[in-house]
Parts: sequence; structure tokens; C-alpha cells
Amino acid sequence: MHVSQPIYDKLVWNFRFFYYTIWHMSKMQDAIEGVPRRDPNRTYKDTVDQSLLTEKGKALIALEQNVPVLTERDASLRIKVIDKCGHACTFCHNEGTLVNTPQSRDRVSVFLQSGSYEGFQAGKIEARDNYFRQEIQKAIDQLGIKEVHLTGGEPTQHENLPELVGFLSSMGLIVKMTTNGETGKGKYAELARAGLQSISVSIFGSTEEEYAATQPANGTRYGRRWAQHKLSQSRLAISEAKANGIEVKANCVMSDASHEDRIKRLIKRAYNEGFSLRILNDLGNGQESIASIYNLLADLGAEPISRKVVAGVSGSVSYFRLPNGQEIGFKQIREVRLDHVCNGCHLDKENRCEEGYYGIRLYKKENVPQGQNPYIYGVCIQRMDLAVGSDQFWNRGYPEAILNLTEEDYASLTQSN
Ligand code: SF4
Repeated sequence: MHVSQPIYDKLVWNFRFFYYTIWHMSKMQDAIEGVPRRDPNRTYKDTVDQSLLTEKGKALIALEQNVPVLTERDASLRIKVIDKCGHACTFCHNEGTLVNTPQSRDRVSVFLQSGSYEGFQAGKIEARDNYFRQEIQKAIDQLGIKEVHLTGGEPTQHENLPELVGFLSSMGLIVKMTTNGETGKGKYAELARAGLQSISVSIFGSTEEEYAATQPANGTRYGRRWAQHKLSQSRLAISEAKANGIEVKANCVMSDASHEDRIKRLIKRAYNEGFSLRILNDLGNGQESIASIYNLLADLGAEPISRKVVAGVSGSVSYFRLPNGQEIGFKQIREVRLDHVCNGCHLDKENRCEEGYYGIRLYKKENVPQGQNPYIYGVCIQRMDLAVGSDQFWNRGYPEAILNLTEEDYASLTQSN
């Protein structure tokens, strides 16, 4: 098509004007909200305080920049199936919900303490609940969910867990679970038959003392004997899950350099018991925690081998290989935000957003009158005031916003890699 010069000039001018207006509006919006633009390509390795790193730690980060990156789109849903738990870890976020009344004296939900919002208590989810079945069907149809992560509380305290796992796998979903290992022993054969494919075990230590240190210091209920019992239960659960063909991953947190020996023992434990280990930084101890993990890995002679990034959510993992061939993951949060909910967030303005947009979470709210849908979708465990009921979630632009974010993030990640 031929376009005359004056028309061409006008088109160019209009385009420039349009582009400038959009750019200007977005800058104005930032200024109004007071929130700096977040860069989803940035993780800890790009922001870590150099003065906290050893020379070997710095060299490790430089090598990490060049590893192959595997990028996949997020298609997962976290489901809080129960609140009950036999632990009372002092750092627990309890998936953002309040601890249910019978256990609320001991257990905590750390993010709720810092906000004004009181949150809600989450009930137990059952496979035969029609409302639940409808939510899962919608999640598959409208969000393309392929994978569910069962969380709690402690999911293995749910007496109908195999039925729940069986229902979710019958819907064609990959079923994974986060567990502390305390009550899994004796259940994994049935869970594997029902379709459970993978567990992430939160491990706190490899000695009774380390284990007990993560619990309230009341000296009685959570003392050394308690820790000894839980530690042996977790070992038995891990070996039983593996024996039944379930993939086992374990997560541990390193807060600062004083944790070095504990993490070294955990690395050894992972090697001896044959499970893969991921180190998480302590969200409450910022730069110190991140630098201490790099320094430790560098000291151990680790070599970065790959990175896995999930487009649409903040989670990513860098993998390192130790000289004995053992692989260690380091989970790294990216600066991903879901504008639909994050725009103007006061925590983001104050640099207190710990997790970024991590994906959606499904809860069943306790004490909802019969005949009303009790399901709630959470978009941020620090901002449970942003959680919305099923109706609002499915009909007010959330699925579209989530799918758009995933596609945009995927495109930007795959172009930049
Ligand atoms: S809503 Fe949550 S994820 Fe979003 S910016 Fe605020 S704290 Fe971060």
C-alpha cells in the first residue's frame, strides 16, 4: 500500500504522541503510587550487597550469570487442605491464614502479626465437596492449571488425604505436597497409589538440638525428646515416600553465616538419605542470608549448572553441583508483581514485599453458612486483605490478569535468555 508523505508524517507523529502519552502516563502512575518499577529479571544475585560476599562468593555469582536457563509457564495452584499441624515453627506463615482456635496458643502466622488485617481461619477441604470440585474444574478450564500443591498445616494430618489426592489426579492434575514429615510414615503406599507424585519436605536440622531450636522455647512440649521423635519420623517418611516412587525434595532455610555448620550437616544428610536439597534464604534476614548462602556454596566448591524460572510467578531456582556430584538448589525470588492486585501496595512502596507474586492459593473459609460457597482465592500471603471469594475471583478480571502476566513474563524471559 502506498502512503503519501504528509499522511506518513502524520501517522509517525500520531504514533510518537501515542507512545509518549503511554510512557508518560506510566511514569506518572509510578510517581503517584510511589512504587519503583520492579524488574522481573532481577533476583538476589543481582542485588546482593558486595561487601558481604567473599571473593569466592563474588566469583560464583559471576559464573551463575552464564548458566543455561529453563523457562516454563506457571500452571499451578496451591491448596491449603488443612490447618492442623503438630509443629509450631516460629517462622511459619501458615499460608497467610490465622491459626485455628485449638492450636492458636502455640502456633504462629508470622505475616499476620505485622498487618492490621486479622485474616481468616481455613477449614479442611474434602474431595466430595461439590463446591471444591467446581473450583478445580474452573481452575483447569479458565487458568489451564496442570499441577496442584497441597499445603497446610500439615497435609498428612488429613484423614481423607488419599481420597483428595485420588480426586485431583483423576482430574488429570499432577499432585505435589509440602510436608514436615511428622505423620507421613505408613501413608505413602496409599498416597502413591492415589497419584501423589512429589513431596517437598521442610527440614529443620539433622540433630535434635537444631530441630528443637525452630520451635517455641517453652521447654516442655517441644523439647529435645519431641525433636528426637519428629526427626526420626521425618527420616522414615522420606525413605517410605522414596520406596513408593514418590520424588522427594527438601527445603531448608539459611539465615546467616552462623548456620553454616547446620547447613553442611543437612547437605550431608541429603546425600546419605538420597533426597535433593534446596536452600532458601531467610525472608526476615535479607542480604545477610543471601550472601551467607553464596559464600557457603563457594566454600564448598560448588559450580553453577542451571537455572529454572517459572514465568508468571516469582519463584526460580539456581542449581549448583558440589565436587562429589551432589546437586543443591538455591531458591531465588524474582521481582514479579501482578499489577491487578499489587498496584499501589503499601508494602511494595516500603520495600517490604517479601515474596512477590508467588501464584494463587485456594482456601476453604471456616464457618461459612451452608448453601454459600466457602472458597477463597489468595493472591499474597502478606496481604490476605486482598483475598477474594470465588465469585469475585472468576468474574472480576483475575484469570485474565494472571494469564496475561504469564504470557508477558514468558516472552520477556525467553527473549532475554
Ligand atoms: S500485594 Fe503482595 S506480592 Fe503484591 S506487592 Fe504487595 S506484598 Fe508484594
